[in-house]
Amino acid sequence: MTEPVLGEAAEGDAETDPYVIALKQFDYAAGQLGLGEGLRGVLRSCKRELCVHFPVRMDDGSLETFTGYRIQHNVTRGPGKGGLRYHPQVTLNEVRALAMWMTWKCAVVDIPFGGAKGGVVCNPKEMSRTELEGVTRRYTTEITPLLGPSSDIPAPDVYTDEQVMAWMMDTYSMHVGYTVPAVVTGKPLSIGGSEGRLQATGRGCVEVIGEASKEIGLPLAGARVVIQGFGNAGSVTAKYLALGGAKVIGVSDSRGAIWSARGFDVAALMAHKRAAGSVVGFPDSDEIGPAELLELECEVLVPAALEGAIVAENAPRIKAKIVAEAANGPTSPEADVILYENGVVLLPDILANAGGVVCSYFEWVQCLQEFSWSEDEVCHNLSGFIQRAFHSVHNMARERNTDMRTAALMLAISKVAEATTVRGIYP
Ligand code: NAD
Repeated sequence: MTEPVLGEAAEGDAETDPYVIALKQFDYAAGQLGLGEGLRGVLRSCKRELCVHFPVRMDDGSLETFTGYRIQHNVTRGPGKGGLRYHPQVTLNEVRALAMWMTWKCAVVDIPFGGAKGGVVCNPKEMSRTELEGVTRRYTTEITPLLGPSSDIPAPDVYTDEQVMAWMMDTYSMHVGYTVPAVVTGKPLSIGGSEGRLQATGRGCVEVIGEASKEIGLPLAGARVVIQGFGNAGSVTAKYLALGGAKVIGVSDSRGAIWSARGFDVAALMAHKRAAGSVVGFPDSDEIGPAELLELECEVLVPAALEGAIVAENAPRIKAKIVAEAANGPTSPEADVILYENGVVLLPDILANAGGVVCSYFEWVQCLQEFSWSEDEVCHNLSGFIQRAFHSVHNMARERNTDMRTAALMLAISKVAEATTVRGIYP
C-alpha cells in the first residue's frame, strides 16, 4: 500500500485513534478509485455531530453529569443507521469512525441507509438498572432532534441491548405522542423486534467466513477458532462456527482469556458466561493472557471486542489463515499491510459484521409495513444479502488485485459517491 495522506480533522495517535484509521482507510480506497478532491472532501466529513452533556439522578441521590454523542456521517443513501455504545472510554473520534464505517457497511451490503453512531461515556457495569434507564431516557431526549424512522435509527452496540432499545423507543414515542417502533432496531420481539436479530451479526460473520474458507480451500469442519470478546457478536459467531464443526479453542472477554486444546462446548460456555459474568473459570480450561490469545495457533481468528486488537506490533505473530472482523475497527492499517503480506485473508468489519445491520434493515421494513416475517424468511434473506456482498467484494479484490478491506471500501465509496453525484449539490 502507498502511504495515505491524513486529513486535518484527524488528531490523535496515528495507529490507535479510530477516526485517524477510518480516514486513512478512506483516503487509500478513494485514491485507488481516483475520486476527485471535491467529492473526497464531502465523503470524508461527518455531516452532523451532536455532543450532549446531561444530568442523571443516581440511586444514592447524587447528581451525575454524563457526556454523549450522536453522529451522522453520511445520509445520502438513506436515514442514518448505527448502534449506541455505552463504555467508559467512548470518545468523539471513536463515534465519528464508527459512524463512517456504518456508511460504508450499509453501502457494501446495499441497504438504503446512511451511517450514524452514538455513544455515552459511562460504565454500565457499575450502574443499576434504574440508573441505566435514566441515562438512556435522558440521552434519547437530548438527541431527539436527530432521531426518527426517516432520519436516524439507533441499534444496540457494546454494552447496550434490547432493553436499552425498548427504553429509547418508549422515550421517543412519549415525545411525539404515539408509538414509533421503527425509530430503533434490535428491540424485543414484543414491541416490534425482528426474529433472528440477536443472532444476525454472528450468522452473517459465519456466512462470510464460510465463503472465504471455500475460496481458499480451508475446510471449516475441524478448523481451530479463536474469539476475542464473548458478547453478542463473538458468542453467536462461536456458536454457529461450532455447529458447523469448527473447534473453538480460545475465547476472551474484558475479564480475561481462556484456552482448551480440545475445544469448548460453546453452549455450556455461553451458559457459564451468563451465570458467572465472564468466560474465565470455565471448567477444564486454562487461563492465558489476552494478548497471547490473539497469537494462538488456529485457522480462524475472530476479533469481536473493541478497536485496537491487531496492530503493527502483534500482527507478525498472528497465525490464523482467516481473520474475520466481527468487531468494528479491530485492525490498524499498518497491521492490515503485514497480514496481507503474510497471506492472511482479512474479512473486513464492513462486510464480516454486516449481518446485524442487514437484519436491522429487515426489522425497520417490518415495522414500517406493520407486518412480521418468520425466522426462516429473515435467515433466508440475510443469507442472500451477505452472499451477494461477499462475492461483489471478492470479485473487486480479484479484479483490482487488492485486499478485501480495500475492495469493500472501494465498492462502498463508489456507491455513496454515485448517489452524491446523481443527487447533485444543494442549493
Ligand atoms: P457486547 O456488549 O455484547 O459484548 C462485548 C464483549 O466484548 C463482552 O464479552 C466484553 O466482555 C468483551 N470485551 C470488552 N473489552 C474487551 C477486551 N479488552 N478484550 C476482550 N474482550 C473484551 O457487544 P457486541 O454487540 O458483541 O459488540 C462487540 C463488537 O462487535 C463491537 O466492535 C461492535 O461494534 C461490533 N458489532 C456488533 C454488532 C451487534 O449486532 N451486536 C453488529 C456489528 C458490529
